[in-house]
Amino acid sequence: MDMSYYFDNNATTRVSLSVSKAIAEAIYYDYGNASSSHSLGLRAKEKIRIARAQVATLFAAKADEIIFTSGATEANNAIIYSALKNSTNRRVILTSAVEHPSVANTLRHYETLGYRIIRIPVTERGIDLNCLKNNLNHDIALASFMAVNNETGTIFPIDEMFQYIKQYDNSIICHSDCVQAVGKTSIPYTMADYLTISAHKFHGPKGIGCIYRKREVPFYPILFGGGQEYGYRSGTENIPGIVGMGVAVEEIAQSSLEKNDYVRHLHHKLEQSLINEGAYIVGLQSNRVPGVTNVGFSDIEANQLVLLLSKKHIFVSTGSACSSNKIGISPVIREMGVPEAFASTIRISMSKYTTKEEVDYLIECITQIIRDAKVRQSKK
Ligand code: PMP
Repeated sequence: MDMSYYFDNNATTRVSLSVSKAIAEAIYYDYGNASSSHSLGLRAKEKIRIARAQVATLFAAKADEIIFTSGATEANNAIIYSALKNSTNRRVILTSAVEHPSVANTLRHYETLGYRIIRIPVTERGIDLNCLKNNLNHDIALASFMAVNNETGTIFPIDEMFQYIKQYDNSIICHSDCVQAVGKTSIPYTMADYLTISAHKFHGPKGIGCIYRKREVPFYPILFGGGQEYGYRSGTENIPGIVGMGVAVEEIAQSSLEKNDYVRHLHHKLEQSLINEGAYIVGLQSNRVPGVTNVGFSDIEANQLVLLLSKKHIFVSTGSACSSNKIGISPVIREMGVPEAFASTIRISMSKYTTKEEVDYLIECITQIIRDAKVRQSKK
């Protein structure tokens, strides 16, 4: 493969070597069905048990509070379904205006079924906590807020928000989509009833994620069948995916803090250089995870910049991967109130594998492209 410079880690991450090895071994040797009673089945079942315990540590949870799913889209859908089924006489859902489509579009669906959705505004400084407090009422069935925004890296104070909500009304079910938080900031499990994560965002494989569900909270499945995952998520288990996710969580536990400092340093260097070229960094003053920069330039459109960088083998994205094929300004960036002249932004996202040399090359290329664009603009 050609040399490439990967700066699209919020879309997905490279699978780590030890995770790849664990997956390859599981595919080859652990092909038994975990429901079979012979030794191959028992071996597969044991692999799931080990991985479940590994994943549970992320949430300081008990093993039976983890339900494996095909990823966070399924997990978010399942939780919203379950929460609404659990509180039939409540018809209001509280959420933010910048959720990932797997939450936002699911809630839109429930809106068509008669639920009222209250979307709390989010500016570049973060979520409007006063608005959240002013909108609390006893008709709310579910509060669903992401822990970290996928486009900007902004951290939401989920513990504080859920504590406030639960104090107001302990029956409101609290869910947080923690997909972009894993390995970058603490997981807000203390007050949450449900959390969701996805392995491919932290150097694990695609097609595997999980629900953390507090033991005391009821859960109603969307998939019925053979009764796997305590009856909460039927379907033959994805052993290689589950094993890979377990190892990926182990790796975070071992190295995350020092790696975060390393990424933070690269991130700071990049942003400083971009600001020197007249860039507008979205949420610059807000609390953000290390390694995510959402940036706009007044002299060049995001789509053009992504294309020019791609020609130099640098991979970044416009907005979120899910919406980047739609031309225009990201709804999240619009919602945050970024000035129009800079609102066409790209997202640069790093990982622990990003090197100093890669960042230097990125800075060199962007600087050249921006300076060329400025010259072109001045001649118009
Ligand atoms: N939530 C967030 C915040 C995400 O960034 C993503 C992935 N783009 C998802 C949910 C969906 O996860 P998955 O790819 O596992 O369905």
